[in-house]
Amino acid sequence: MKRTGMSRRGFLAGVSVGTFTAFSGTRGGSDGTAKLAIHGGRPVRHKSFGNWPIWDRNDEAAVLDVLRSGNWFRGRGNVVEEFEQKYARMTGANGCMATVNGTNALLTALRVLDIGVGDEVIVPPYTFVATISVVFNSNALPVFADVDPETFQIDPDSVEKRITSKTRAIIPVHILGGVADMDRINAIAKKHGLKVIEDACQAHMAEWRGRHVGTLGDLGCFSFQNSKNLPCGEGGAVIGADSRLTDKCHSFTNCGRSYGSVRGSGFAFLGTNRRMTQYQAAILMGQMKNLEANAARREENARYLRERIEKVPGITAQKGYDGQTRSAYHLFAFTYDKEQFGGVSRGRFLDAMRGEGMPVSSGYRPLNKEGIIEDALNSKNITRVFSKERLQRYRRENECPANDRLCQRAVWMPQYVLLGDESDMDDIARAIEKVYENRRKLV
Ligand SMILES: *Cc1c(COP(=O)(O)O)cnc(C)c1O
Repeated sequence: MKRTGMSRRGFLAGVSVGTFTAFSGTRGGSDGTAKLAIHGGRPVRHKSFGNWPIWDRNDEAAVLDVLRSGNWFRGRGNVVEEFEQKYARMTGANGCMATVNGTNALLTALRVLDIGVGDEVIVPPYTFVATISVVFNSNALPVFADVDPETFQIDPDSVEKRITSKTRAIIPVHILGGVADMDRINAIAKKHGLKVIEDACQAHMAEWRGRHVGTLGDLGCFSFQNSKNLPCGEGGAVIGADSRLTDKCHSFTNCGRSYGSVRGSGFAFLGTNRRMTQYQAAILMGQMKNLEANAARREENARYLRERIEKVPGITAQKGYDGQTRSAYHLFAFTYDKEQFGGVSRGRFLDAMRGEGMPVSSGYRPLNKEGIIEDALNSKNITRVFSKERLQRYRRENECPANDRLCQRAVWMPQYVLLGDESDMDDIARAIEKVYENRRKLV
């Protein structure tokens, strides 16, 4: 304790009195600290933080209505269209196209912006695999830029260094619900003539300078997968400020048929079928009702929780840029500095936290080092399109040291823990404090 310049008494003074007394019954170590649950003590929390997704009888009725109508696909009935209009209004977009999932939303955006064979696309390594699989699956090369270790977002300085004569687009990912530095990314894109596809799959309701994410670049992609903040099992959407582009998305996902400004006799565009079903949209319409209230609750609880846990040495919550006027908090994340915890590894910290009843995880592994990258670089499509020299340079330059460090230090909690009340946040903070107090017994 002395090394941190904080006495135990001083440390506990920073903890709300209510919480402290609530757990005073669990105290009993010979040195006065509460025994960790993994050492046989009483856990901070017994009850669960709740479940996700959340639905009610109205949602059951809405799905049943679709079933009984016989209008199951979007060619009959109007639930998908209603959802698209509502989502466009809510995000301030001029067009919205609903599709089967977030992965296909991204594939559609790449196709409609004519990004494919032989092109390079700059991506962050701190993301879900779909952000890069869609680029390889378009026979293009995803080129990794490093991350900003404080915000966990793609680092604009690193983006600029990765640009070549083949670069056509940047995919900033609004990771964990925070927002990438869109001022700088858009400025870089403008300077070099690049497209910007926002991967907003984790960022429903997040805002940059008061504007909804997904409307800041050329096209923005969302996921409605089970775990996301707006879920329907599987689902996705592409939105944009330019309705001619979103019309093209509609045409592409509906077998290339005419849509809005995209007109042709017979087929207007070489498309495919990635249409959302009416069932998916019926669930989304119900989930939309709670979206704003849930987003506000997450923000309020996250603000309170950040303030409390950052009093613990070695714990630093994910930061946001000044332009980030709202975070979606798809995950509540912080970095863990083991040096400040007397050398206790992150793995041990996570075990101890789980013992206290906390749903924590270590998050992403470095995506740029996954075996699938080398497999893709050796694939028929990629080796036919990119020169040996280019691929050798790709391998040499595929280093993201800031991301490697972040992957070793991050700790995640799922968004639904932020849907509770202040006492739930106190439990989380108390668990972290308790592990800190017991750090010497964990090495
Ligand atoms: C979930 C997610 C996707 C893909 O969405 P699916 O609906 O699961 O296909 C893409 N990018 C990110 C960052 C995601 O979190």
